[in-house]
Amino acid sequence: MTRFLFALRQGWLFRREIKQLALTSKITNVTQLELSYLIAKKIKVLALDFDGVLASHGQVQPDEEVVIWLNALRETSIKLALLSNKPNQARRQYFQTAFPELLFIAGFPKKPYPQGLLAIAQHFKVQPQEVFLADDRLLTGVLASCLAGTQVAYVCPARQNFKARWLEESFFEVVRCVERWIMIGR
Ligand SMILES: [Mg+2]
Repeated sequence: MTRFLFALRQGWLFRREIKQLALTSKITNVTQLELSYLIAKKIKVLALDFDGVLASHGQVQPDEEVVIWLNALRETSIKLALLSNKPNQARRQYFQTAFPELLFIAGFPKKPYPQGLLAIAQHFKVQPQEVFLADDRLLTGVLASCLAGTQVAYVCPARQNFKARWLEESFFEVVRCVERWIMIGR
């Protein structure tokens, strides 16, 4: 509840920035984030949300095309971090095995609190503006980015699988719609 109220209050304060980010985002799939795009934005670290961005809700592993994209990115100078509000053990184990160099963030206050993003910048010894977050939620990830001073892509639409988890997916789709309605009026 505290986090919800924090999100509403800070979301209101950052409403112009969030609206601008939401309306100008052209990222419909995280795999559209290419090395040249990140370099042009002077990005050194790519922080990734999991649910809705790398896979549909509640999965342990990213979707296949995302794994291919991640494997291409790990060959570059871009550092990778995972910043999910559900950093569970199964996911940690997957990334430890498949992407051991990726920084798996856990133990910090959940987004929209900015501590996780700031910890990523600190870990890699870069400025917050050199960190780029890809997230499908306006009042968690995008707001956390505004608060931390990082760059962000609002990934929309989110990856979803209603067949696998219709209840969870429906719930989060409603949440996303309410967020969009609050922040950008549609
Ligand atoms: Mg998400």
